[in-house]
Amino acid sequence: MGRAGKRAATVASRTRKYLFVVGGVMSGVGKGIATSSLGTILKARGHKVTALKIDPYINVDAGTMNPTEHGEVFVLEDGLETDQDMGNYERFLNETLPSANYMTTGSVYLSVIEKERNLEYGGRNVEVVPDIPLEVIGRIERAAEAADADVTLVEIGGTVGEYQNILFLEAARMMKQRAPEDVGTVLVSYLPVPGSIGEMKTKPTQYAARTLNSAGVFADLIIARAPTPLDQKRKEKISRFCNVPSEHVISAPDVESIYDVPLNFEKERLGDTVSAILSLHRRETRLGEWAAFVRRSKRVKKRLSIGLAGKYFKSGEFVLSDVYLSVLEALKFSAYELGYAVDIDYLDTRAYDKGGSLQKLKKYDGIVIPGGFGKEGIEGKLRVVSFARRHRIPYLGLCYGMQLAVVEYARNVMGLKGAATVEVDAKAPHPVIDILPEQKHLLADGRYGGTMRLGAYPCVLKKGTLAREAYGRARITERHRHRYEVHPDYVPRLEEGGLVFSGTSPDRRLMEIVELPRHVHPFFVGVQFHPEFLARPLAPHPLFTAFVKAAVNRRRRT
Ligand code: GLN
Repeated sequence: MGRAGKRAATVASRTRKYLFVVGGVMSGVGKGIATSSLGTILKARGHKVTALKIDPYINVDAGTMNPTEHGEVFVLEDGLETDQDMGNYERFLNETLPSANYMTTGSVYLSVIEKERNLEYGGRNVEVVPDIPLEVIGRIERAAEAADADVTLVEIGGTVGEYQNILFLEAARMMKQRAPEDVGTVLVSYLPVPGSIGEMKTKPTQYAARTLNSAGVFADLIIARAPTPLDQKRKEKISRFCNVPSEHVISAPDVESIYDVPLNFEKERLGDTVSAILSLHRRETRLGEWAAFVRRSKRVKKRLSIGLAGKYFKSGEFVLSDVYLSVLEALKFSAYELGYAVDIDYLDTRAYDKGGSLQKLKKYDGIVIPGGFGKEGIEGKLRVVSFARRHRIPYLGLCYGMQLAVVEYARNVMGLKGAATVEVDAKAPHPVIDILPEQKHLLADGRYGGTMRLGAYPCVLKKGTLAREAYGRARITERHRHRYEVHPDYVPRLEEGGLVFSGTSPDRRLMEIVELPRHVHPFFVGVQFHPEFLARPLAPHPLFTAFVKAAVNRRRRT
């Protein structure tokens, strides 16, 4: 056997363990946080961990979905547009995950159909079962291999009992059948406390466990989400009726912060239990760094007030802050680091489109305009940018928030009448934000899915600028998701007019960061990318930290 052969044999002989996470009773029970927290714990026990998300919808990725429908679209380093749970995994694991760790029903079918067209099934009949679950298994195993993971967590979206995720449960069943020792299943369930009864009820969880059994999958561990902690009596009841030892029923009451969850799980000895289920080497769970972060977040007494001006807030009668999840988390991590907590006010800029006083914005220590699309609420956003600029309120513009800062400056400072982004006004006399030629062709062909400028791109920073100081480096990499860019023809004029392009693509073709000089404004920065995707609890993002520092300074002054 050659050297390479020997190496391959060693790699293959390594046992990889898999833990599926499924949800019972209802959606929104917190499977994503449970999966992320399991990952934090296993990593803290010295295991190499990776996490996958499977979404049951037909969309090939999350990119074409309306944010108010789906929540935030989280962009991975290699450009895949995914579900916000991928963001939670990255934050809790403090790891960068590849697109191999995300799949949807649509993406799985797409590859099976492509393989069939390419005769890769050798002319045989290709069937929903087993070929779809086999494709899923292949993807899971490849992701585990690529991450060289000891434990691979696989969260199956949706709720057990619904039609959509049944083929993914089938994949879990088939994997377990092949290697019973190496595969486990966690059921994240919910125990309601109906107001009229005032007692925590276990029956829905019992039904969920049975429904799971009817798919041939048996829970090894039940994470019992509930408004309050579970008592021993209920643990035993679930144990008896759902066929798991009572120590395998983990109490998961509602928490103040999602970052408490790994610590709470560990109080229930979750690490030891999972170790036993997967026959892992028993180790101590070292959550010291995590616990220090949580302590820091609780210790804060001083508060900052930040206005977040967007438009994807309303779903019926409910306010959806999920759409801006990574932005909120990024602000929190940086604030905690500086000993502050942030109070966020959601400002729906559609309310300012047609005028109205903006004076109340003065009370904010900082204003953020996050990413967005389309025409709605844009005039309102431009008025908010203008107000922040003129009143020297720290401003951070993310993607659309950067583009609009350029439009506002062109219009109001440089007097370029009708300056606009062509996204809003295709015939703008001054298209300061324009579409790249390659993007124009894609849109003309109606090819919207997965075609934006996506994922990580390098950016070089200009000496002596706020951006360079914040990052403390000359070259950075940040994740993108947009079609439009600062029009290169306008760059010299905008620079002459006082705007500083402090970050550009290495070839200087694309403007990545714009800012105002410090003597003009204490902190006015717009970035064409989405720094929020790189902010982690254990590694706050330097640009958010710089923004929060500026907000702290304003707070101290006023
Ligand atoms: N709509 C803008 C573009 O596509 C900004 C996108 C964003 O904010 N993510 O360029």
